[in-house]
Amino acid sequence: MRLLIYSKALYSTFVYYSPDRILFDAGEGVSSILANKAFAIRRVFLSHGHADHIAGLVGLVNIRNNAMGDKEKELIIYYPKGNYLISEMMNFLARTNRRLSYNLEWIPLVPGDRVELLQGQMPRYVETFPTVHVPNEISLGYNIVEVRHRLRSELAGATQEEIVRIVREQGREAVSEIYEQRLFSYGGDSVPIKPAYVEGTEVLCHDSTFLDERDRKEYKHATLKEAIAVARAASVQKELICLHISSRYKNKVHEIAAASGYYAGLGFKVVLVPPGRIFTVD
Ligand SMILES: [Zn+2]
Ligand SMILES: [Zn+2]
Repeated sequence: MRLLIYSKALYSTFVYYSPDRILFDAGEGVSSILANKAFAIRRVFLSHGHADHIAGLVGLVNIRNNAMGDKEKELIIYYPKGNYLISEMMNFLARTNRRLSYNLEWIPLVPGDRVELLQGQMPRYVETFPTVHVPNEISLGYNIVEVRHRLRSELAGATQEEIVRIVREQGREAVSEIYEQRLFSYGGDSVPIKPAYVEGTEVLCHDSTFLDERDRKEYKHATLKEAIAVARAASVQKELICLHISSRYKNKVHEIAAASGYYAGLGFKVVLVPPGRIFTVD
């Protein structure tokens, strides 16, 4: 399991990204659904302060303090700086959990910030980007980025012997260049994300509240069609995961699940997360 997702518009949304033990948003039910995995989470990244994305923090903070498991493991919650609803939640949790057995840290972020996840040969970090959801509320999206090495493009035609010779004479740095690969992108609730912010990502999670444009009364969320257009414009490499689908489509859950992957002419797979189901992606 790489991703564990629960997403039903207005009720609850969260995405657990297991390779880096990150929880994106924390809707109601997150601790009971994740169970043991709730102890594995190292970081939570919140997209915005609506209840369906943060109500699960109450249970999550509490369970890590009380249930069986590692009670001393630090938990860091990142959130859009200046978000009023999240500040209220932060105050509530501070007042009702005066004695936590672990360090709970809150870190505000602004668009363009970076959070280091991993050092070493292939460092990884989270970068933030701005999203548009509702007026007067700051919201953020997140990319997980990996720093990689590859052969310098000007050496593309070089023979193995030439490359070996350059490495021997000038060192490994002379033949390799660094590039950055976005592995995963999470937009939270939003109207279409600006494709440049998620350009080239392998997996994009995009708001797809409305399957039918005519059902949208206010411009706060995206449609499935818009999510596909963003993924196409951003040249998503592997998968578009369509989240936050309205429960008005719940009778179409089987059709929604069956629709996954059946879009011809796209360079990536389209995965629709049925509202109200625990959904895993390998
Ligand atoms: Zn929402
Ligand atoms: Zn929202």
